Amino acid sequence: MNIILLGAPGSGKGTLSEFLCEKKAFTQLSTGDLFRDNILNKTELGLKAKEFINKGKLVPDSITNSMVEKYLKGKKKDLIFDGFPRTDDQALALDKMLEKLDEKIDKVIYLDIDESTLMGRLTGRMICQICKRSYHRITRKPLKEGICDFDSGTLIVRPDDKEDKIKIRLEAYHNQTAPLIKFYKDKIIKINADNCSPEELYIRVEKVLGF
Ligand code: ADP
Repeated sequence: MNIILLGAPGSGKGTLSEFLCEKKAFTQLSTGDLFRDNILNKTELGLKAKEFINKGKLVPDSITNSMVEKYLKGKKKDLIFDGFPRTDDQALALDKMLEKLDEKIDKVIYLDIDESTLMGRLTGRMICQICKRSYHRITRKPLKEGICDFDSGTLIVRPDDKEDKIKIRLEAYHNQTAPLIKFYKDKIIKINADNCSPEELYIRVEKVLGF
C-alpha cells in the first residue's frame, strides 16, 4: 500500500511516518529530509535547494520531481510520501512516476489541524541530525538534553523553524498544497489531528487504514 501524508507544516506527518515505518514496515520518502541531507553533504542539489528552504519557500517542482524520481528507482512498495507532492505539478508527476513502476497511490491521509497549534509546535521543534526523529523542547523532551534517545545523534533546530519562515511556509501550504485535497478527493481520508499525542494519532490512522 502506498500512502501520501498531506497536512500543514507541524501537523505531524514526520512523526506519523516514523510510527508507520517502525510498526508496519513502510518505507518513508520525506522530500524535506532528502533536501536537508543534500544540504548537509553540500551537494549541487543541496546548494540549489538551500536558498529556497531557508527562506521558507517551496523548492521548484523540476528540482523536487527529479530528486523523487531518482529516489524511487528500486524502491516501489509500501511507500509513505511525507511532504510530497506539495503542488499540482508534483502530484501529476508522481502519478506518472508510479505508473512507470506499475504502482499507484492507494490512500491519502489528510491531517486536519487547527492552525493555532502549529506555531508552538514548530518553534519548539528539534530534530536528530542522524535519524531525523523529532522532539519538542516542552512536549517531547529527549532523555538527555540535545541528544537523540535512539542513536545519540545531535539534536538541531531547523533554520526554517523560525516564526517569520514558518509564516511563509504556512502561506505556501495554503496556496499551493491545500488544493491537493480536491485533487485526491477519491482517495483522501481526513483525520482530526487536534489535541492528540503522536501515539493517539497513530491509533486513529491505524483504525482507518484497517490494520
Ligand atoms: P514541513 O512539513 O515541516 O514544512 P519538510 O521537512 O517536509 O517540513 O519540508 C521542509 C522544506 O523543504 C519546505 O518548507 C520546502 O522548502 C522544502 N520541501 C520539502 N518538500 C518539498 C516539496 N515536495 N516541494 C517543494 N519543496 C519542498
